[in-house]
Amino acid sequence: MSVQVLAAKMAEVELKDVPGKELTPESPLTPKATSATTPTMEPIVKTGDTSPGFLTPNTKMPQASAMKRTDPQQNGGEAFVNRDGTVAEAPRLKKIQFADQKQEFNKRPTKIGRRSLSRSISQSSTDSYGSAASYTDSSDDETSPRDKQQKNSKGNGDFCIKNIKQADFGRREIEIAEQEMPALMALRKRAQGEKPLAGAKVVGCTHITAQTAVLMETLTALGAQCRWAACNIYSTQNEVAAALAEGGFSVFAWKGESEDDFWWCIDRCVNLEGWQPNMILDDGGDLTHWIYKKYPNMFKKIKGIVEESVTGVHRLYQLSKAGKLCVPAMNVNDSVTKQKFDNLYCCRESILDGLKRTTDVMFGGKQVVVCGYGEVGKGCCAALKAMGSIVYVTEIDPICALQACMDGFRLVKLNEVIRQVDIVITCTGNKNVVVREYLDRMKNGCIVCNMGHSNTEIDVASLRTPELTWERVRSQVDHVIWPDGKRIVLLAEGRLLNLSCSTVPTFVLSITATTQALALIELYNAPEGRYKQDVYLLPKKMDEYVASLHLPTFDAHLTELSDEQAKYLGLNKNGPFKPNYYR
Ligand code: NAD
Repeated sequence: MSVQVLAAKMAEVELKDVPGKELTPESPLTPKATSATTPTMEPIVKTGDTSPGFLTPNTKMPQASAMKRTDPQQNGGEAFVNRDGTVAEAPRLKKIQFADQKQEFNKRPTKIGRRSLSRSISQSSTDSYGSAASYTDSSDDETSPRDKQQKNSKGNGDFCIKNIKQADFGRREIEIAEQEMPALMALRKRAQGEKPLAGAKVVGCTHITAQTAVLMETLTALGAQCRWAACNIYSTQNEVAAALAEGGFSVFAWKGESEDDFWWCIDRCVNLEGWQPNMILDDGGDLTHWIYKKYPNMFKKIKGIVEESVTGVHRLYQLSKAGKLCVPAMNVNDSVTKQKFDNLYCCRESILDGLKRTTDVMFGGKQVVVCGYGEVGKGCCAALKAMGSIVYVTEIDPICALQACMDGFRLVKLNEVIRQVDIVITCTGNKNVVVREYLDRMKNGCIVCNMGHSNTEIDVASLRTPELTWERVRSQVDHVIWPDGKRIVLLAEGRLLNLSCSTVPTFVLSITATTQALALIELYNAPEGRYKQDVYLLPKKMDEYVASLHLPTFDAHLTELSDEQAKYLGLNKNGPFKPNYYR
């Protein structure tokens, strides 16, 4: 069954879900069954392409180089901290270190927090989400989970986690996440008797959080069997892993895995006698890499790969380019809905959270300069303006600059305001936006942080000179002190502020998780030949479907095109409503 057919069936089953609207299989909320036979490729939208029309079916996604989203690989890889912990230290480093920070900062984690910021060995995800919220301490029991005999209450021991006793607590976390993941809950409900993933054996490697648990339980409700490992050595919520293990899932993950544990968990996930995966859900490409390396024959039975992260997608394109990709792959990272929510709305929500948690700063009346007025910059500016900050914007692109002006922000050059601002935020995806010269001229107490993908935007290395003193004052907060006593407050050492220091809204993760579920259904059910051994995007229509599944949360009433209007606009009443190049 294709995703479209499933969607049509689901809408038939549960037509009442969208208020103010009677859904029929013809509804815009229902990708039409007829399109089930239509190949579901996205068009090429190459950079510089001036003819943005639809291309023919079976057109592939643009190669990574043509994508808008910054790829760290192509940025010289400066963004990553080595897994072995090598980072340049300030020559006169004076660290105030609290007991619980020791591990975090001395053994520089390679996969920090919810989005990994490293990839030297595992080359894991640098951009996928997980939740930082984990209320159980992993340090209370020093015995490695690998050395423990583990069983759940039903006697099943096919898992390896920190502590099964935390299961009840994890279950509550999962229930809370369910409230903010309406689309997955709708998929479960709407599928009812349908099991579009019946027979699917999904091996997954993502952040193991409450949100992932909601996804895994949805896949199971749709008929799949799941085995899971973590894509990040620090992001696992132990209590959630416990709840999953108690619920019968084979989960191999705990917070604070070593490098060796990390690969051991992946191997345990994949390598089970009598069980062979036929679908991969990956975040960062490590799982895919491991199967390629250790069990290449498995690909004979694997129907497809769904990949979430920039890094993982880049690796898939590399494989494809080298002719080594032996199954079709779905690029979830570049789905329109994911990107919109990830960049604009997620940052609008999390910039204040990241700043507040680290500095307790009051925003009202503060002067803030935001470098870059793309999606992320727009989100940051909107949030800060709403809090009463005086916001300046720097831009290189006259269109985005004009947008900033029209939105009521003062467009300036950084050097014009650098002496007076209280907060500097970079979100350009560029490098050396805030260089030492600017850092020297900032006023005492100025907060400096980055919301862009890589840690290249602020020239942090230039601050590691003998005359400057570094003081670690809190987790992720350094005071850099000049000889005259002036200090700036550097957050997360110039890495992504929100992903290092705050949480990401579950609703944002819901979008991604729903897209992942639909991508799995599509690849699993696609007839032979629909997808070749290449990398694809989910069709626009399915992006629209993901969005539509989230609308009932807001009691939103979507307008339906009349036949006459549809004809006038040259659109199908059921979508897609925008061309594929529309972002
Ligand atoms: P974008 O391309 O839409 O916006 C970046 C803007 O910065 C552009 O308008 C560009 O003209 C401008 N710019 C480039 N160099 C500049 C300079 N030297 N000075 C001033 N402006 C400059 O990209 P985006 O979607 O806004 O993403 C920005 C960055 O944030 C990327 O690195 C992206 O990967 C990252 N990102 C972060 C999060 C997060 O949660 N923090 C989420 C999504 C994306």
